[in-house]
Formats: sequence, structure tokens, C-alpha cells
Amino acid sequence: MKTCLLEKDLEQLKNTIVEMGEKAFRAGQIFKALHLGLEFSEMTELSKPLREKLDEKFISQPVKIIKTLKSVDGTEKFLYALTDGNVVEGVLMKYKYGYTLCVSTQVGCRMHCAFCASGLNGLIRNLSPSEILGEVIAANRHIDGGLGDKRKIINIVMMGSGEPLDNYDNVITFLKLVSAPNGINVSPRNISLSTSGIVPKMYDLANENIHVNLTVSLHSPFDEERQKIMPIAKAYSIKQIIDACVNYFDKTGRRYIFEYVLIRGETDTARHAEGLINLLKGKPCHVNLIRLNEVKENDLKSASDKDAYRFMGMLEKGGLSATLRRRMGVDIDGACGQLRQRYLDEMKED
Ligand code: SAH
Repeated sequence: MKTCLLEKDLEQLKNTIVEMGEKAFRAGQIFKALHLGLEFSEMTELSKPLREKLDEKFISQPVKIIKTLKSVDGTEKFLYALTDGNVVEGVLMKYKYGYTLCVSTQVGCRMHCAFCASGLNGLIRNLSPSEILGEVIAANRHIDGGLGDKRKIINIVMMGSGEPLDNYDNVITFLKLVSAPNGINVSPRNISLSTSGIVPKMYDLANENIHVNLTVSLHSPFDEERQKIMPIAKAYSIKQIIDACVNYFDKTGRRYIFEYVLIRGETDTARHAEGLINLLKGKPCHVNLIRLNEVKENDLKSASDKDAYRFMGMLEKGGLSATLRRRMGVDIDGACGQLRQRYLDEMKED
């Protein structure tokens, strides 16, 4: 199988290019062009024979956008094709200060959270570092409609399908590549990694020299109830998760964020709000409340807007810092894994 050149940092690329008998400075040109989203055939700074030689040996762009859906609020959803025919999805959100891209880290997911569409068919495979990077590059190029301004996307959230800490090494390599000054150069402080709470890997992450924002999907302040909606909760208790967050804060100085999905009658009651307050009061953290995106594969319902605001009010009164996430892209299957699931359903019907 062909190697993907995006996998390499500049030094590694230099070695490869020199091994091919080319001058080392070519590596800088190729690196830049790859990160702008160019195919080898479009790298006109290079001679035609070199372009052809590269094309014979390597893959340039491992990810292609094959479908886009645009919401009335400007949010865009992408279906990306990988070279082996698998598909993953991404969401592009436009804010006043620039674009945020939500990236996937795995095809499918092993976590099987009750409310999520990504894990319905389990884990198919991990994404490679260049595939995760390829999502960002393809989206950057898509925004411009042409030769991408490689810096259009200034924030990245690892909240698409997959569990990033279940694909740890590839995610770390991706983080190094995407924040490289000579590449896309997104600062780790503008990157959020979201995990369902794989505790040992949270400790490992704290020891890496990449200080991304750490987000944990909590979804319940009570272990027993959390276990019912998130099977991974059977392996790690909430106390263990919070200890790992405190360690992350101590090592990196980064405040941690909890995501909390409001499911009607299941996670949105006064008892849950009190539980959260008791658990988190005084901690340097923030709670991000998300109204459930309902998916057709289960019967869980979203909290009503009124209950969602009431829940947030209770948290604030209890001394917690909390926000209710704006609903974006609900008209385009905004929830995790829904677009891919629909695509797979359609393929089955054909
Ligand atoms: N595996 C990681 C990252 C991917 S999921 C994690 O668990 O954090 C990203 C976020 O989307 C998580 O907080 C997840 O719980 C949430 N999510 C998944 N399905 C959802 C749905 N149907 N509605 C709202 N949020 C959902």
C-alpha cells in the first residue's frame, strides 16, 4: 500500500525526498503544498517528472469531502471518504472570530454510549494521524473553494465520531502535525480533546508536552446512572475521572470542561443539578450543557428548552460556571455519527 506523505513531519519528509535523489529544499515546498490540500498534480513548483514520481509512490490527500450539507445557521456538515472506502463525518461551525472544525478520530466507536449514533456498529478502525489531519486540510480547502488558505480553521474540537483516547498514539501524532509552525499551525490552546473518560490515558495526556483543552463527557453525577448510559463508566468511576482532571490542571494549568447531555427525565432533573453542584463546586471547571440531539435509533428525548435553561440556572445558583450550547445544525443531522449512519442505511437500501 502507498504511504501517505502527510504522515511525515518536515524532517521526516526531508529524509524521504533526499532518499529519492531530490534536493532537500523540495521537502519544504511539498510540505507546504500538502498542508494546503494540493494533489501532487497541482504542485506546479515541482517538475512534471517529480510530480509523477511522487504520485506513483505516495498518497497526497487521504481524505476527500464527498458530501456537504449546509444548515440555515451556516453550520456545515461533511461526509469524508477515506482511501479504503470508509467514511467519517465532520462539522464546520462559523463564529464571528473564525471557523471551528469538529473532527472524527475513528471510523465508528467502541464506547456504545446509549444516546450516540457513532457507536451503533462498533469500532471499524482507527484513523491514522494523516487522516485526522486530512479532515482539517480538506475543510480548509473547501472553505475557500480553491487553493485553501491553510489557516481558515482556527479552532478544532475532537468531538466527532470516535474516542480520541482509544486511538491515543495516532491522536498525539496528529496534534503534533496540526500544531507544527510550518504546517496548519493551530495552537493547542485552540484545540479541545473530548473523552468519555479513559482515566489512564488522561494521565498520559497530562505528561505530553501538548497542552490541549481537556473535555470530559460526564452526562451524570451518579456512577450507577452514568453506567446505564455510558458502558465505559463501569471501568472508571466519576471520582477517578475528577482526580485525573485535577492532575491535568496541576500539570498543564488548563481548566477542564465537562460536557453534559440533557436527556429528558434521565439527566435533567433537580436531583441531577444538585448532584453536579456537590461534585464540582469550587473546582476550576466549566460545565457545557448540550440538549440531546435525538437520533432515530433510540427513544431518548431531549430536555425541553425551558428545562434546559432551568437546569443551567440551578447550576449557576449553586456556584458552577455553566453554559447551554447553542443548537447548531439540528436540521442537518448535527449529532455525532448521524450523517454517516444515514449514508450507511442508504447504501443498504440501494
Ligand atoms: N468519544 C468522545 C468524543 C466524541 S463524542 C466523548 O465521548 O467525549 C462528542 C460529544 O458528543 C460527547 O460529549 C458525546 O456525549 C456527545 N454526543 C454524542 N451523541 C450525542 C447526541 N445524540 N446528542 C448530543 N450530544 C451527543
